[in-house]
This record gives sequence, C-alpha cells and structure tokens, in this order.
Amino acid sequence: MSAGKAEFLAWIEGLARVYAENRERLTELDSAIGDADHGANMHRGMQAALDKLPGVADKDIGTILKTVGMTLVSTVGGAGGPLYGTLFMQMGTAAAGKMELTLADWTAALEAGVNGVVMRGKANLGDKTMVDALTPALAALKAASGESLAQALRRSEQAADKGKLDTIPLVAKKGRASYLGERSAGHQDPGATSSHLLLKAAADTWATG
Ligand code: ADP
Ligand code: MG
Repeated sequence: MSAGKAEFLAWIEGLARVYAENRERLTELDSAIGDADHGANMHRGMQAALDKLPGVADKDIGTILKTVGMTLVSTVGGAGGPLYGTLFMQMGTAAAGKMELTLADWTAALEAGVNGVVMRGKANLGDKTMVDALTPALAALKAASGESLAQALRRSEQAADKGKLDTIPLVAKKGRASYLGERSAGHQDPGATSSHLLLKAAADTWATG
C-alpha cells in the first residue's frame, strides 16, 4: 500500500485538528520549561498551512509538503517554526514530483526532514528536543521490513511516543529549556510531544485508510 495524495491532504488536515485539540497541553508543557507558546505556535502554523492547502491540492506531494514548511517558517517564530518548517520543506524536497509515497519513499522523506532538523538545530539524541521523538521514529521505519505502510507508521509513532516519554528525566541541552539547566529534568519536552503527535496523526490517517 502506498500513500496517495488524498491521504496526504487528510494527514495535514488531521494534524491541524490534533494541534488545535492539544494546544493547551503543549502550552502547559512549554510553560514548565519554556515560554508557554508552543501550543499557540503549532496551532497557528498548522491553521495557516491549512488555509494554503486548496491552492496546492492538485500539485505533487513534494509541493504540498514544501508549502506547509514555508508557511510554518513564515507564521511561527521561535525555535519551533524554523525547525518544523525545515522538517516539512526537506520532506517535500525528498518527495518532489511524487503523487504517492511508498513506505520507502516515506522513510526517505522523513530521513531528509530529520537530517534537516538536526543540521539546523544541532541537537543530539538525548538533548531533550523534538529530535528525541523523531530519531527513534525514523529508526523504526528503517527497521520495518515486510510490513505495510500502515503497520510501519504505527511502529514509528510508538517509537516516537517512547522517545517523548524518555525526555522526562533528561536535562535540556538545547533551546530555551536549556536555560533551566538541571531544573529542566522531570518535565516532558514540548517539541518531542508535538513531533509524536505529528507521527501519530500520520499513523491514524493511514490506519483508517
Ligand atoms: P521557543 O523555544 O522558541 O519558544 P517553541 O516553544 O515553539 O519555540 O518550541 C520549543 C521546542 O523546540 C522544544 O521543546 C524543543 O523540542 C525544540 N527545540 C528547541 N531548540 C531546538 C534545537 N536546537 N534542536 C531541535 N529542537 C529544538
Ligand atoms: Mg516556547
């Protein structure tokens, strides 16, 4: 099974809905170790991306992803906007010209996106950032063999979920949370949480067809 454009659009729409529903939760997490804007940031960015979708709905998946990325960069400030913008833009570059993605295509796109985030933000695994959810999710996708796209996406979402929870005891090394030093330990990272939600929205989209 591959991911067609209709499902892609459904994923983006689903993600906008998920960030709307989790706005308070993400803000609450960011208020503990940041500046309490992560929920508003992700919500605003994805709503703006949603507004752009009709204009690119007939284009290839790469163009759709790049449009989402550019919209996030231009509407969301702070660390989250440029990092999520990079994730989507690099995924879009990897998926350029494609009207559907196989599991291998999806894996290659996420790999390009995660590499972009790491290059831009310079976070290592264990620095208590979104990378701690994205990297295990990518590893799970790469390890998937003989699985359907839906199964692989679910495993990748589950790996991100664990990566997100594993940020709780960590001391932040990047971003605003790092200003707190040891006091950042004991809190779940907001960006790892929004990254898990992004992958969960994908798994949920393809699970239901
Ligand atoms: P800001 O920190 O500017 O207020 P957000 O609140 O939108 O931006 O996003 C915060 C999240 O961004 C953090 O929880 C963390 O996951 C992520 N983040 C911050 N700095 C980096 C970085 N250098 N690399 C990767 N992720 C980062
Ligand atoms: Mg913040």
